[in-house]
Amino acid sequence: MDEKIVVAGAGGFIGGALVQRLVSQGYRNIVAVDRKPIPEWYQRSEVPGVESLCLDLSEESACKQVVVNAAEVYNLAADMGGMGFIERFRVQCLRSILINTHLIEASYRAGVRRYFFSSSACAYNTELQKVPTAKALKESDAYPAMAERGYGWEKLVSEMFCQEYWAERGMKTFIARFHNVYGPWGTWDGGREKAPAAICRKVIEAKDTGKHDITIWGDGEQTRSFMFVDDCIDGIDRITHCDDLIATPINLGSSELWSINNLVGLAEKIGGVKLTRHYDLNAPRGVAGRNSDNTFIKKVLNWEPSIPFAEGLAKTYAWIESQYAARKAGAKTVRDDHH
Ligand code: NAD
Repeated sequence: MDEKIVVAGAGGFIGGALVQRLVSQGYRNIVAVDRKPIPEWYQRSEVPGVESLCLDLSEESACKQVVVNAAEVYNLAADMGGMGFIERFRVQCLRSILINTHLIEASYRAGVRRYFFSSSACAYNTELQKVPTAKALKESDAYPAMAERGYGWEKLVSEMFCQEYWAERGMKTFIARFHNVYGPWGTWDGGREKAPAAICRKVIEAKDTGKHDITIWGDGEQTRSFMFVDDCIDGIDRITHCDDLIATPINLGSSELWSINNLVGLAEKIGGVKLTRHYDLNAPRGVAGRNSDNTFIKKVLNWEPSIPFAEGLAKTYAWIESQYAARKAGAKTVRDDHH
């Protein structure tokens, strides 16, 4: 519990949730790092034993500074967002390579024992995701490679760094390919939000304004699976402490498949409203179909993310509704305008 743990990207959605979890588990030597000014962090643990630092981890010196004497490092820092962001800002996404490149080298030199990297389902071959009914992706489907432009390639190459730091230098690295994570304290407005939060917000807005319309990106037939953040944090912990998974990319996602149209239906049901649907066929929509094949994680960990989407979305909706109301009342809310 006294071992030093570094969480990179702690001012964001998943990094913030991980710090909360570590605190609740009793860890008392946590260094939380993010490039965002501290008042803008989504969640902040102001308890003894958590040091929050505002540093740009694409700088080598910052990486060296934070990993001194660290036992474990979790890299959840990346310039990222939903499809609207990653299709538009590919250079920014690619430049996240600097974060992992410097952080993994500094960790190696500092003798870090376990290093976790948050990869993504966007690392998978896009050719395999061309129809809504595409087969669920298994770990071997990343190669031959044809990742999502920008963001996905950065993830794939950073994965390879993790694999080679183990193969050549013997540092234990762990790589999870997250499939759409959602939940309270995630981005819900401003351009980086992902589909579940965006749809909840649109339903809430429609109810509030009385304008019972909703615009959906694409034809709404795209399919995805969505993982509630609590499952994601559980998975990160299990993966990072399983030596059978050293340097082995593994899916961390739900296998409950939803179309965007059905997601809208669920959000309407939660909100108790029916909206007229409009489809923006020119909007970014990403691949046609993507699901997580969980055969491997079930085999190795005897576990898989299992929080039902209907349950997780109801919690997320309620949280976004409270954020929406708080903003209307003039209070500061979660928003990421840090482009
Ligand atoms: P997020 O945007 O909420 O958090 C990422 C954080 O990294 C932000 O707070 C950002 O300020 C910080 N950051 C960016 N550049 C930095 C830098 N140079 N130095 C320090 N901090 C920097 O995103 P998230 O949803 O919490 O994602 C966490 C990780 O999980 C990312 O690596 C992301 O690519 C990966 N991931 C997320 C999802 C998802 O659905 N949320 C899916 C797949 C992969």
